[in-house]
Amino acid sequence: MPSDRDPMERLLSDVQKYLAQQQELNGELLLPTRPRVDSEKTKTLSTDTGHPAPTQGESEELFPAAPVMNPGRLPGMQYPAEAWTEAGDLQGLNDMICTCLKCSLGQTRKKFVFGVGNPQADLVLVGEAPGADEDLQGEPFVGRAGQLLNKILEAIRFKREDVYICNILKCRPPNNRDPQPEEIALCEPYLWKQLELIKPRLILCLGRIAAQALLKTSESLTALRGRVHDYRGIKLMVTYHPAALLRNPNWKRPTWEDVQKVRKLYDELTAGA
Ligand code: SF4
Repeated sequence: MPSDRDPMERLLSDVQKYLAQQQELNGELLLPTRPRVDSEKTKTLSTDTGHPAPTQGESEELFPAAPVMNPGRLPGMQYPAEAWTEAGDLQGLNDMICTCLKCSLGQTRKKFVFGVGNPQADLVLVGEAPGADEDLQGEPFVGRAGQLLNKILEAIRFKREDVYICNILKCRPPNNRDPQPEEIALCEPYLWKQLELIKPRLILCLGRIAAQALLKTSESLTALRGRVHDYRGIKLMVTYHPAALLRNPNWKRPTWEDVQKVRKLYDELTAGA
C-alpha cells in the first residue's frame, strides 16, 4: 500500500533509524565537531583536550604569580614580623620606631637617635650607641667625638652629608656603659632595615663593639682592622671609634691608615657608578 508520507519525510525517517542503529552498535557517534562555545559561561572548549579553556582569571588562580619578595632584604636575617619592616623610606622607618620601648634604654633615653646623612649614601658609618651629647640632640656623632669624625671624613674628601652615620643602638646606655647583647639583639634589626633602604656599597664600623656586633665575632679590634669583611653582601671595614682617639691620640695614625684604605676601596666600588 503506497505510503501517504512524502519522500522527504520518509528519507528523514530512514536516516534517523540508521543513526539509531549505528549508535546502538558503536556507542556515541564520532562526528567532527567545532570548538563549542558555552553560551552561559562564554567558555571556549580547548580543541586539544576537550576541557574548558581557562579564562584569564582562572589562569591566574591555577598558576598564581610568584610572590614578590622584597629584593632589598639583607639575606639570612630573621626580621621580626612587625609593621616597620615594610617601611618604604628612612623617614617612614624613623616615624614607626622612634617610640620603641623594646629594651629598658627606651625608658631612660632623652632622645631617640635614628641616624643622619645621605639616604642614598654608598658609605655608611656605624658606631655602637649614642653618648650624652647625642642623647640630648637626637643626632649621632655630635660633640667632640663627632667633630673629630667630621675631620677624619674631610681628610678623605667626604663631607658629613655625603655619608650616612648611625649606631647599632638608637638609645643611650646609662653612663655610657657598653651595650648589652640582648639590647643589640633587639635593636640591630632596625639597622638592617636602614641598610636595606640605603643600599650602601661599604660599611665602616667605628670601634670594637660595633664591629664585633655586626660581624658576630669576638676577634679583637686589632685583628679586625686592615681587612675587608663581608656583611651580608656589603663590604665592611673597621677602625677606631673617634671617642677612643680622644682618649688615646696614638691611635690617630693607624686610624689615618685605615680610612685611606676605606677611601681607596670606596673609589673602586663606585668607579663608573
Ligand atoms: S635601644 Fe633600640 S631596642 Fe632599645 S628601646 Fe631604644 S630603639 Fe628600642
